Amino acid sequence: MKKGITLLCLCMLLIILGCRPKTTTLSFVGDILLSRGVASQIDAKGADYPFANVKQIFLKDSLTIGNLEGPLTEHDQGVYKNRHIVFKASQQLAKTLANNGLNLLSLANNHTMDYGYQGLQDTIKALKEHGLDMVGTRGQQSNLHTFVGENGMTFGFLGYTVFPPEGYIVSEKRTDVVYYNPELTHYEITEARKQCDYLIVQIHWGKEYDTYYSTTQEKVGRQLVDSGADVVMGHHPHVIQGIEKYKGKYIFYSIGNFIFDHQNYRYTDESVFCNWYQIMKQTLNGGQSP
Ligand SMILES: [Zn+2]
Repeated sequence: MKKGITLLCLCMLLIILGCRPKTTTLSFVGDILLSRGVASQIDAKGADYPFANVKQIFLKDSLTIGNLEGPLTEHDQGVYKNRHIVFKASQQLAKTLANNGLNLLSLANNHTMDYGYQGLQDTIKALKEHGLDMVGTRGQQSNLHTFVGENGMTFGFLGYTVFPPEGYIVSEKRTDVVYYNPELTHYEITEARKQCDYLIVQIHWGKEYDTYYSTTQEKVGRQLVDSGADVVMGHHPHVIQGIEKYKGKYIFYSIGNFIFDHQNYRYTDESVFCNWYQIMKQTLNGGQSP
């Protein structure tokens, strides 16, 4: 009798838990710089300082996604370009990113290769060591990252940069960031789309400090949707650009800076924090037949 009651209680609990809507929450933020002026702030106030007001949000969501603008490396040979824009930050900051709730970073941008192949290798190693995932690199791993949300849906992520290599010579045989290429990107999106329920494409593009997206961005953004992207998340201009709803999908042309040092341009201190909820009722015992 006692066994029967325990079993009944257990079944009821499973039904209650099963009937509860399962929510997946994805948080998107823009450019993350951890060197230059941000490094000075970190030295003065501690590594967790830039994340103090968002940490709890990031830890509670299902996945926090951003763009890491620069390698995490101790390597001292930067590539050949303007010294003021050759970025690097300590590998130890990978732990800081993880502790503050970041989960997935796009490395496809115009600064990841600032310390060449060694810088990228060090970055990948540091991020992996602290359980962080990444998109936007090719060679060592697939560009596609998939994540199964609490609602049972599979989310796919891809990362691209439209900017050509700066200050180093590309080698097909070595790990690099993923450059946007109309044909290859179309193919990759088409293939990735088969492996997930929702596909999010991050793209580093646009003109810095332009508050409105260009016709080229519009054309490329729409092509990404036509290829199969459900959401396009843009960054690089350091300011917010428009959001377009195209064929029922959203294109965020630029979500602005998330963590960056002072820039003498208007609107660089504004940022979009995109919190996206996806709910799907799943039941263990109700709704559909078990
Ligand atoms: Zn950039």
